[in-house]
Amino acid sequence: MSVARAREINARLRAAGITVHEWAGWESRGNGQTSAYEGCIVHHTATAYGMAPAILVNGRPDLAGPLCNYAGNVDGSVTVIAAHPANHAGAGGGRSMGPLPVTTTFNRRVMGLEIVYPGNQPMTQAQYRTAAIWARIVTDVLGYGDIQRARAHAETSATGKWDPGFAPGRTIDMNAFRATAASGQLPVEDTVSWTENLTFTAPDGTVTTIQARDWVMWTNFAAWQAANGIATTNTKLDAIAGTLNDNQAALLAAIGDDPTQIDLTDAQVQMFLNGVSEKTKAAVKAALREGTDA
Ligand SMILES: [Zn+2]
Repeated sequence: MSVARAREINARLRAAGITVHEWAGWESRGNGQTSAYEGCIVHHTATAYGMAPAILVNGRPDLAGPLCNYAGNVDGSVTVIAAHPANHAGAGGGRSMGPLPVTTTFNRRVMGLEIVYPGNQPMTQAQYRTAAIWARIVTDVLGYGDIQRARAHAETSATGKWDPGFAPGRTIDMNAFRATAASGQLPVEDTVSWTENLTFTAPDGTVTTIQARDWVMWTNFAAWQAANGIATTNTKLDAIAGTLNDNQAALLAAIGDDPTQIDLTDAQVQMFLNGVSEKTKAAVKAALREGTDA
């Protein structure tokens, strides 16, 4: 039953456009318990942004693997780790169980998604989007279509876990997460092209047009705005700011600190770009190349 359910989930994920990687052996992998799935739990791995680490399969010295059923990768793909119950949720009996039972054998009741990111800073937008889709699909397949059966580890933990987080000790807003998952109104990356023109209108009516990536390269916007008294009238600027993920924002801040020179090492650039979509990576890399030439 576990394998059939997981195959159904995989098929629905793929139908939703999500890449599903299969860690060899997932169909027979489990902690030895027999599943009685009726919901799901989302977690953070407290590891670097990345793809499913082997620890999720092999476990830790203090906890046998598998440590989840699915991993939520930095690029928005998932990796199916185990069809059968995994050691991710411990005993259920936390502060907000929803319809899920309080039980000492919670792992056989819930599939677990380990989202691969540090947890003391936000998951990528792609990870959030995929986690919401995963939660919706899993509760449709296993949880009677009840999104309340998708919980955070922080909500169900009997031992004070706080994952998945967005800052040290701070759990993401799970009511917002469930609302997003239920609505299907999911964020989309790169809704504004980096080559798109932005228009600024000065108080005297002077209109300035600049490409988004050039704006990123040439100015720390807040300082520029303060120095010039120019109001932002182009809503697309807000749209860009609204679609930046934290890695992009960190990159822009680093660039903005030094408008005349790009002094990031390749390794730093790769770190900042980790988790950004391929489309955005290409745009940022193009911008960096132009900046270096200037
Ligand atoms: Zn957890």
